[in-house]
Order: sequence, then C-alpha cells, then structure tokens
Amino acid sequence: MAKRDYYEVLGVSRNVENGDLKRAYRKLAMKYHPDRNPGNTQAEKKFKEAAEAFDVLKDPDKRARYDQFGHDGLKGAGGFGADYQDFGFEDIFSRFSDIFGGDSFGGMGGAHGRTRRRSGTGQPGDDMKIQLKLTLEEIAFGTDREVKVKKYMTCKECKGTGAKSSEDFMTCNTCSGMGEVRQVTRTMFGQFVNVQPCPTCYGEGRTIRNKCGSCHGEGRIKGEEKIHIQIPSGVTNGNYISLNGQGHSGIRGGEDGTLVVLIEEKKHEHFKRDGDDIFYDLNISVTDAILGVTTEVPTLKGRARIKIEPGTQPGKLLRMREKGIKGLKTNKIGDQYVRMNVYIPTSLTDEEKQHVKALKDSKNFDPNSNKDAHENIFERVKAVFS
Ligand SMILES: [Zn+2]
Ligand SMILES: [Zn+2]
Repeated sequence: MAKRDYYEVLGVSRNVENGDLKRAYRKLAMKYHPDRNPGNTQAEKKFKEAAEAFDVLKDPDKRARYDQFGHDGLKGAGGFGADYQDFGFEDIFSRFSDIFGGDSFGGMGGAHGRTRRRSGTGQPGDDMKIQLKLTLEEIAFGTDREVKVKKYMTCKECKGTGAKSSEDFMTCNTCSGMGEVRQVTRTMFGQFVNVQPCPTCYGEGRTIRNKCGSCHGEGRIKGEEKIHIQIPSGVTNGNYISLNGQGHSGIRGGEDGTLVVLIEEKKHEHFKRDGDDIFYDLNISVTDAILGVTTEVPTLKGRARIKIEPGTQPGKLLRMREKGIKGLKTNKIGDQYVRMNVYIPTSLTDEEKQHVKALKDSKNFDPNSNKDAHENIFERVKAVFS
C-alpha cells in the first residue's frame, strides 16, 4: 500500500515550522493514542502514521531528503521495501514520550518503561536485537538462515497463564478487575483523567493464588529457539528485518516482542562491493597483457571465463554483465568489473634481461609512438565511473 504524504498526514503545509509541526502532531497523537482508543486498530494505525511523519519532519536532515526524494529518500538509512518495517529500533512509543516529556500522558510507562496496547491479559515481552553476519555470496542472491536465539519462551506447563490450574485466578482487589486505576491530573494541556495500570496486578485485572511451579507465575521461562530468517538479495550494512512476535514472550500471555535482525556484511577476501556491482583485481603478466589470453576469474556464482584482448592496458576494467548482486528493490542484477593489474617482474635472470633489452628500442614498445592507446584507457575508466 502506498504511503501517505507526511505533510498531509499531519495536516500541515510544506513550509511548516517546528512549533506548528509539534502542535499538529500533539493534537493527532492525543486523539489517536491507543490508551484512549482501546481495541481500535484504525486509531492505532493513525497514531503510528502520525508518529512516523513527525519523526521524519522534525529532523532537518530526514526532512530535506524526504522533500527531495519522497519516501524513497529515507530508505537507504535503514529498513527497506514495503514488506519490511521502515521504522527504527526504538519502540514508537518511546518517541511519543519525547514530546510529552516522560509519563505525563495517561498510561505511559508500563512495566518495561514503555506502553503497548494491552491485549487483556499479561504484559508484553521485550523486543530483541540480533546481528546477522552475511557473506557477499549470501547477499548476492538472498538466503535462508536458521539462528538459535536465547529468549523468554511461553511456559508449556501452564500454557503461559502462570497459574497451577484455571481455578487459581482471583479478581484483583486493588482495581476490582479493571486492570487500571484512574486519577485526575492537571497538566499544561489542562485537566484530564490519568489512567495508570494497576500496580498490584500490573494491569491484568487478576492475581494468581497458586503459581505454576515451572515458571513461578510468570507464564514464561528462559529457553532457546531456532528461528528461520529469510534474507532478500541486495541487503547491506544497517538494513534490518523486523520479525513481529519473535522477540521475548510476553508475561502471562502478553503480546510477544519483536525480533530485529540487523544485517552485517562480512568483508570479502577477493571482492569489493559498490552498490550492486562487484570489483575484482586481476593480476596478469606483461606477456598476457601484450599477447592476450583467456583465463578464469572468481565470481559470486563460481569461476567464470574471461577473455583478455591483446594489447590490454594496465587499469583497464572488463565488465562481466550480471555477475554482481541482485538488487534489493530494483530486482536488477549488478555487474562484475575486473580490473587489470599488469604485473611487472622485479628480478630477472640474465637470459630474461637479454630478451627484454632486445625490445628496448623496438618502435612498438615506445609509448610516444602510440599515444592513442594511453588516451583510450583514461577515457574508458572515466566512462565506467561517471
Ligand atoms: Zn489490579
Ligand atoms: Zn508456567
């Protein structure tokens, strides 16, 4: 689905200044905050949309990129494509607090220092972040990985409830089962009802008489899980994949956290990467450069033959079409460039010296007699890099 224009989302003009921007965002954020619209997914969506728009427009650098390139201008920094989350590590709610100054808003600051919409029972599990090192070969075509993650997992004994049996739940006395306590507060925005999660039952509305022996009432235990991760081709350092529900299990049936997989590219022993293109330095002998040769070079897909023409100049780049990386968003395959390094021997036998000396005054070995060849290579190199 296409994203809405950030200015449109916040209902502001394109030359809006910071003060008005903040005011516009605050208005929307208060209107659509999940604690004020429990169970309303439309409001939650609008809330997130506004938070994202504000996050971009309040930052002069991001805003400039957005103004120039639209949503695409923001993709390079992290996150990619519509199938992956574009949003940063921080929970969206932690951004929310920077405009309200901590927990002045009802319901802010839960058991984990942030608030998610409560799903009725339990408390949300924390998000997790792992790093995944990938080789260029894996990046070039995309890959599937299975990783072991140590995390909190739902207790099998009590199925995540934390209770020995279903008879062991009692209505919480502090909040009479409401899960929240209300108090009227005065803030700079006027007076409003401040709703806090109940401190006795942590918002769950019930307490447990006999706790599960296995998890001691938490509904989750420490464990290790194998997680399957699909990595698309063309990712790069700083890209990440968000896997909802694969983070820490929630407490007593609460929502599971998100697992954020941060991509790290391993340095390759032969190749240098430039976007979706690959560069490879090939050492060739003087005689091969002069006489031409057919040889093999490594590529991301294995070895491939390459023809070196007679009279190849040092520094010349040979292009091998579609031997590079399959782009993340473009679906196009990059090229491999092979750079000719002509190896000049540093020590010679007497016999070799004689051969070379014999060529010393030969006309074809005089660089000034064949100027074209020189100009040619600079033209070529320029054409490739421009
Ligand atoms: Zn309570
Ligand atoms: Zn248990």
